[in-house]
Amino acid sequence: MSIINNFIQLIKQKRLLVVQILFTLSAFLAMIIFSYIFMKNTVHRYLRENTKSLFDAAETKFTSDLLDPQQALGGFANAVRVMIMNGSDADELRTYFNEISNYLTLGKDLNAIGFNGFIGYFETLPGGHVLIESLIQYKQHDIDTTQRQWYLDALAAKGRISDTVILSDDIIYDKNMLIYAVCIYNDAGRRLGVVGVRVQIDHLGSYIVEITRLQKAIGILISDDLIILAHPNSAFVGKSASDTEIPFSELAEEMKTGKEILERPILSYKGDPSVAFFKKLQNNWYLGVVVPKGPYYRDATRMVTILIIMGAALALVLIFILIRVDAARTKSELENQHKSSFLANVSHEIRTPMNAIIGMTDLLSYETLNKRQISFVNDIKQSAQSLLSIINDILDLSKIESGKLTLSPVSFDFYALLDNVFSMFSYVTQKKGLEFQYEIEGKMPTYLYGDDIRLKQILTNVCGNAVKYTEKGYVKFKVSKTDSDLIFEIKDSGIGIRKQDLPKLFNVFQRLDAGQTRTIVGTGLGLSITKSFVEMMGGEILVESEYGQGSVFKVIIPIVLGKEEDAKTKKKLDEDLVLYAPDARILVVDDNEFNIKVAEGLLGLYKLNVHTAFSGNEAIHLVQQNDYDLVFMDHMMPEMDGIEATDRIRRLGGKFKDLPIIALTANAVQGAKEIFLNSGFNSFISKPIDVQELYLILKEWLPKEKIQEQKLEERTKEEKTQSDFMKAMSKINEINAEIGIKRVSGTEDMYRDTLQLFNKMIIRECDTMTAALDKGDTKAFSISVHAMKSSLATVGAMNLSEVALRLETASKGNDIDFCKDRYPAFRDKLVNLHEELVVIFPEAELKKKKESGDAAYFKEQIGKVLAAASDFEIDVGQKIIKDLQNYDFGEQNNDLLEKVAKEFSEFNFDGVTKLLKPLDNSA
Ligand code: ADP
Repeated sequence: MSIINNFIQLIKQKRLLVVQILFTLSAFLAMIIFSYIFMKNTVHRYLRENTKSLFDAAETKFTSDLLDPQQALGGFANAVRVMIMNGSDADELRTYFNEISNYLTLGKDLNAIGFNGFIGYFETLPGGHVLIESLIQYKQHDIDTTQRQWYLDALAAKGRISDTVILSDDIIYDKNMLIYAVCIYNDAGRRLGVVGVRVQIDHLGSYIVEITRLQKAIGILISDDLIILAHPNSAFVGKSASDTEIPFSELAEEMKTGKEILERPILSYKGDPSVAFFKKLQNNWYLGVVVPKGPYYRDATRMVTILIIMGAALALVLIFILIRVDAARTKSELENQHKSSFLANVSHEIRTPMNAIIGMTDLLSYETLNKRQISFVNDIKQSAQSLLSIINDILDLSKIESGKLTLSPVSFDFYALLDNVFSMFSYVTQKKGLEFQYEIEGKMPTYLYGDDIRLKQILTNVCGNAVKYTEKGYVKFKVSKTDSDLIFEIKDSGIGIRKQDLPKLFNVFQRLDAGQTRTIVGTGLGLSITKSFVEMMGGEILVESEYGQGSVFKVIIPIVLGKEEDAKTKKKLDEDLVLYAPDARILVVDDNEFNIKVAEGLLGLYKLNVHTAFSGNEAIHLVQQNDYDLVFMDHMMPEMDGIEATDRIRRLGGKFKDLPIIALTANAVQGAKEIFLNSGFNSFISKPIDVQELYLILKEWLPKEKIQEQKLEERTKEEKTQSDFMKAMSKINEINAEIGIKRVSGTEDMYRDTLQLFNKMIIRECDTMTAALDKGDTKAFSISVHAMKSSLATVGAMNLSEVALRLETASKGNDIDFCKDRYPAFRDKLVNLHEELVVIFPEAELKKKKESGDAAYFKEQIGKVLAAASDFEIDVGQKIIKDLQNYDFGEQNNDLLEKVAKEFSEFNFDGVTKLLKPLDNSA
């Protein structure tokens, strides 16, 4: 059974090869069949034509042979008649009979056909009836002639020539005879007698037998009453054709109908398979030819055999070649698969630590960091991201090549996507000193349906190239639309592309103009992937370029409108991020220590009780010992992978059947979701773990009773230990302090400071924005609204931050009308917020009177700070300065302390020394 199954499997796999082989075999079979039919037809025709000419020759000869004795008889009978009428007697006639007969036997013609003498029976001669026969030895001669058949036939013929066949078993002749006979009459019409001529049939037939024998056939002569007169097998001669021992007896009846019999299969008397032909002759006799097939078909059969052998050899060679080609193809496919899986594995291997780096960096950014550290963290994150994007490109490419990449369309906020791209590129262009202009022409649909991630990838690739290949000048990004399409136009003033290079532009791994681009990092994958995505979306990408002047890339994508409800599901999560489940127990399973740390860190944000396991086995062990509410299970683990571990946990039965298990995966490939869901997982989350995604998973899968996720105000009421500050904050609607605390550092104190600083700048920044807008300076406006956006996000004012983002996008797109329309309300809200915050941070508090400090102590401490600065001990230095700032050392010194604090925060040790050195020396 399994052999059959394997075979069926093999055939399914090798469908193409099987079809090719079947085709070859059937072509071969068809060739044999056609050549067989062709041969057979040819042989038939040949056989028939041959037989026909044989027949014709035999018939002609035979008819003329029969004519000769008849003519001879005519002349002879007339001479005898005249003799009788002139009174000749029997003796005279007898002499004449003998003389003429002797004379005729000397002549070749008649003799050759078996002339056997004359015969006469006379009734009117004096002396009574007399029978005269020449050239004959009688077996017996006392027979009454008037009773003999030939005589009776002649009488019946009434003056015409009759023919009579007499077989060798006749009582008189010992040979088969044909007797032509005719009555002779005197002038008065009285019958004088009957004159006949005898012809030996064996002679007549021998010709037929002979000429057919030359053709390896059997000639047969049959009389009108179906007696066989000639046949190579003399035993048949004289027998009736319908006699059952005769091989063609069954054709006898048909012969009588007079129709020609053609090519009837029979066995010859020798037992050879043959075909028989029969034809009725003019004298009503039958001429037959039986042709053994063998000799005729032998050549044909030989030819066909040769053809079959040659054809089979050819077919075998062909099949062999096909199998070889298939094997080669399979091998190269296999190698390609190996290559792909190698690529996938390598990128997985790289992505795992990459994810750890990115995740850790994320976690790090939740820690208290100074500016310099933040910039390091950002650099790490950026480098990690760009490395990850190269790896993702390679993965994308191998997926595109193997046809495994499909789009995942969703409804999404188009403006948000544009914002995202714009802010990304306004940042990178600014860093590179390029001018970045962008413009949204007309009103765009707010919600689109499509693969937003891939669309962003397309735009990022093309814009990224524009920035990459432009040293000075500008990058312009314009979005416009027609009724059916979105048009993204990305124009740069960069190195441009040579005419001859344009056709190669979208090829994989193709990098152009090596002289110019050598120093620019790139893989040559971007545009190839971009083009594939654009085409998958049903769009097209066009390029125009002037070498040395710049390029214009145009991406055209059909518009499919999305739904607002669907697009919004992911939004506003930040505000809800107040989810705590201190009683929930969570297990994280991953073989990679870093991944575990990242997951632990992220889950820690939700104050969850996290256990970890490094292998599937450990996980199976742990789930049985502890009552977990949720398990995060890595997919790829050595020994036992996540799928198997999950399966085993499920098979423990009972509550384990329903234990929520979430797959963690580094390759979020298409169809992964289905695979995981079908493998017993409840859901999956891809690495690097997205905080919002994690939040959604927790919200969905943690037991509801263990989640503490009330409205902020409600919870603040419950929390007895809550500080006055937090109580006050809970009354400010625009700000979510919980988020703010997480954003800055995690401690309330730090957040408080940040918020205080933020509050101090609100009005100043509002003035700047208002002024810029009044002047119509969208650039200045966008810069300060951008700063406001970040500050708002930092303090946890998510709604206002989003409004700021909108304004920033609009201003970057030079949409001054939009800005003027929306800004006043935004400003009012900011002013409001400021007023609310002032209540919490009264001016008085800010200007709290400090105790005056001791000058000697100040000096002593300054010395320590200098020492710390020269040893690069920033922590020590900062701590001393902070302590000193608790006292009042006079306006000048207070200012100095503030300046020093600033230098420290920027790691500028030289600056610190420069500021403090004069004080130290003056001592
Ligand atoms: P790469 O990673 O090398 O940038 P791409 O597939 O994105 O790969 O681009 C392929 C090649 O096309 C680049 O190496 C560069 O030579 C050329 N190219 C792409 N965009 C531009 C542009 N805006 N200006 C000039 N040359 C470009």
